[in-house]
Order: sequence, then C-alpha cells, then structure tokens
Amino acid sequence: MIGFLQEIFNLFKPHVTLDLSKHNGLSAKARGIPAYKGDISICVECKSCEAICPTHCIEVQSEKISFDYGACLQCSLCSDICENNSIFESGFVDVYSASRDDLKVNYNSSGILESSKDLPQAIGTLKEDTIYKLVHKNGFNFREVCAGSNTGVEWEIGASFNNVFDMESIGVRVVASPKHADILLVSGPISENMHHGLNVAWDSMAKPRAIIAMGTEAVSGGLWKHGIFPDTPKFWIAGDPPRPDVMVRAFLTFMGRRDFDFKVKWLEFLKQGT
Ligand code: SF4
Ligand code: SF4
Repeated sequence: MIGFLQEIFNLFKPHVTLDLSKHNGLSAKARGIPAYKGDISICVECKSCEAICPTHCIEVQSEKISFDYGACLQCSLCSDICENNSIFESGFVDVYSASRDDLKVNYNSSGILESSKDLPQAIGTLKEDTIYKLVHKNGFNFREVCAGSNTGVEWEIGASFNNVFDMESIGVRVVASPKHADILLVSGPISENMHHGLNVAWDSMAKPRAIIAMGTEAVSGGLWKHGIFPDTPKFWIAGDPPRPDVMVRAFLTFMGRRDFDFKVKWLEFLKQGT
C-alpha cells in the first residue's frame, strides 16, 4: 500500500529525464573543443599551441592550422597559452561522426577552410550499411570492451543508464556476452595486452555487427600509442570521456534518429559564435 501511494506521489513530481530535443551539443559549463580565429602569419612564427598540445592534435603549416578533434582532450592548454586570443574554448561537446576524417578541421585567417558543399555526408554513407538498417529500427545491444581505458568512459556509460539520461529508453542496451551484441563498444587506446581479448570478443559476434570507438583514446589513442581494431569502426565518438548526454545524442545519430553532422554543425556554430 505504501509503495502504491509512493507511485501516486511520484506522478506529480517533476521529470528528471533529459529532454534531448532541447539540447544542441553546446554546454556553457564545458570547455568543449577549441575554436580558432587568428592570423596564420602570426601563428607560423609562434606555434606555442602546437608545442603544448599533449596529444599533438594541432599542426601549424604555412597556409593553415589543423585541429584533429578526434585526438583533442578538451584540456584548454592551447587556449590558455595563446597570447593573441586566437583560440578559445567553445563549449561544443558533440564531437562524433561516422567518418574519422570528419573530425579533422583546417582553418586559415578567414576561418574554417571547408565550405558546406565540400563537407562529407558522413551519416549519409552510413545509411547504406547493413548494421544501420538493423539499429535504425530496433536499437541495439552492445558489449563494451575496456581496451586499456582509464575507466572514465566506463563511469560515464554507467551514468548514461541512470534516470537522468535514460539510455535504455532510446533502445540501447548493455549485454554481458559479445554473442548477444550487435555493437562492440571499444574504449581505451587498445593496449597490447587487450588486443587479443578484443579480437576474441569481435569473433564471437554474429553478423551484422559493428564497432563503435568510444572516447578520445579509442578514436585516436589520445596520450598513448593507438592499437589496432579488429575492424574499422562504423562510428567515432570523441571526448575524454564523452559525457552521458553526448553518448545518448551520438547513439541517436548513429541510429539515424537525429539529424546531426559534426562539421556542418561546427561550421554553423563558428559562423554564429565568432
Ligand atoms: S598559440 Fe595562438 S598565436 Fe600561437 S600558433 Fe597557436 S593560435 Fe597561433
Ligand atoms: S588536447 Fe588540449 S591543447 Fe590539444 S587541441 Fe585539445 S584542448 Fe588544445
């Protein structure tokens, strides 16, 4: 009886589950990936950000500066050291794509080099894939393998299933055995000791199957040497670690239930925010 009354009482309590339709990948409370707006001729003489970046994801060349956001830890060392205020924290945290190359961005003194028409239609390519047809309709089961991760990703995966983020409500479920999984979720840089175990998990999975790289270490190695995947991931989710809300939005994108293309959104953000 007390339980029943409690349930009635709960009906009138405000919802705590995130309304994803109101979230756009920007967070005022997060550093996000660094944005660039500067003068390349000054940068060529300086290169301080390139030197300090712990994952070597910035490259200053004669005509452009390149950022590999798939390797970015969102640590802000580059924006802190820039005396010209040419790099700033964006708060942009939705860094994921079906294309690894999509996470690499080039800038010159006028801004981002790619124009909208040059941008890859990364999610469009994914739509041709067998695994996409499966997960789009049914959601998916995943088995996670911590391949040398510092467990930051694992903590956030755990949080993504609480009642604030409610991952299961979008049809994404954890399974204990790779034999029951559609997706192999890989975290960590794939250390030598985990290489064999990762391959065994992959070989145990029925087809269609796919790998998703979860976290900056899995996407690029991060601070470490990057190991070898059993197969090329179909989706890359950067962040060190990605936040639970980022994971939910990334999975919705992977399943084709959300219209999002990293470079298109980043370009729009830069046009509005700089
Ligand atoms: S630290 Fe600033 S000025 Fe120096 S290369 Fe980087 S962006 Fe350019
Ligand atoms: S890893 Fe840190 S220093 Fe390197 S680009 Fe990202 S925020 Fe900047």
